[in-house]
Amino acid sequence: MDPSNGQQMEDLHWKLDLLDSIEVGIVVIDRDFRVKVWNEFMHNHSGIHPADIEQQSLFDHFAEIDQDWFRQKTEPVFTLKSPAFVIWEQRPYLFRFTSYRPVTSASDLMYQNITLFPLASRSGEVEHLCVVVYDVTDEVVSKQRLASANEQLRKLSRIDGLTGLYNRRYWEESCELEFKRCMRKRGSSSVVLLDIDYFKSINDTYGHPAGDQVIRSLSRIVRQTVRETDVCGRYGGEEFALVLPDTCAEEAGQVAERIREQVQLQPVQYEGHSIPFTVSLGVCQFNTSFKNHIAWVEHADRALYLAKDGGRNRTCIQS
Ligand code: GH3
Ligand code: MG
Ligand code: MG
Repeated sequence: MDPSNGQQMEDLHWKLDLLDSIEVGIVVIDRDFRVKVWNEFMHNHSGIHPADIEQQSLFDHFAEIDQDWFRQKTEPVFTLKSPAFVIWEQRPYLFRFTSYRPVTSASDLMYQNITLFPLASRSGEVEHLCVVVYDVTDEVVSKQRLASANEQLRKLSRIDGLTGLYNRRYWEESCELEFKRCMRKRGSSSVVLLDIDYFKSINDTYGHPAGDQVIRSLSRIVRQTVRETDVCGRYGGEEFALVLPDTCAEEAGQVAERIREQVQLQPVQYEGHSIPFTVSLGVCQFNTSFKNHIAWVEHADRALYLAKDGGRNRTCIQS
């Protein structure tokens, strides 16, 4: 044998070894989508031996490949001789493979990035193209985990730790949105402000932790009394605020009274003490004369002041 031929054969063996040892799928197809090369990665993940797919149409083995789409995608690779890419965000995979990796147990499917590049013959014609399959499952799973952690953080950042109600910042944002919605639609929503009566003396008599328990208990009553679409927030220490969409002053007054009555009926049990408490409430319906949501809340606060001034344990409606 010609020594240069021997060298070429050795080179070829090395290249084939390389093709089989890399953790990337390599598939060479011709213009009729017949498989010419099928490396070990593809064998391992599909269970199809190269001898059982070579010279056969890719489509005969992988019904999941959308033929029209794939033909369209590969056309410019053949004609323009330029590579094309398919990332997992566009299509999660080209070949439906199971993912075996232990770290990626969160996903059963192998997410793939695909590169299609032209293979030119010596004459410069492109009669074949190479499909490179990258397993990006690890990357996708960690990206999805990060997104879900961020979503959880975003939710937590809206929530008040003691009561589980929305915190003041988020409540105010919701109130502002409702204000704008009412302005556009001439809506009749209401704001309710609520403050525990003589709370200082509860803290003084039973201690601060008992006061915290009273605040928690009140938040439970509020949650149980309002509708799912109402937005409840902890506005300050022992002050709560509600936005009641599509609720006029009269109806909001009824909700406020229900809360007030429930509070009166349910003294808080804390370390052997039964702690009775009451709340005062101020109600204000949206009005187009309000300059902004702050004015709306200020009017509800005025109603709350009147309830306090009128003797507490009562609801006042600002008209
Ligand atoms: P009023 O009937 O006029 O509302 O009287 P009040 O004693 O409730 O007066 P005010 O609303 O000004 O009192 C608020 C008190 O709430 C003062 C503060 O010590 C207490 N407080 C604020 N935040 C918390 C909290 O998170 N836990 C406890 N235990 N107390 C708090
Ligand atoms: Mg207060
Ligand atoms: Mg108070």
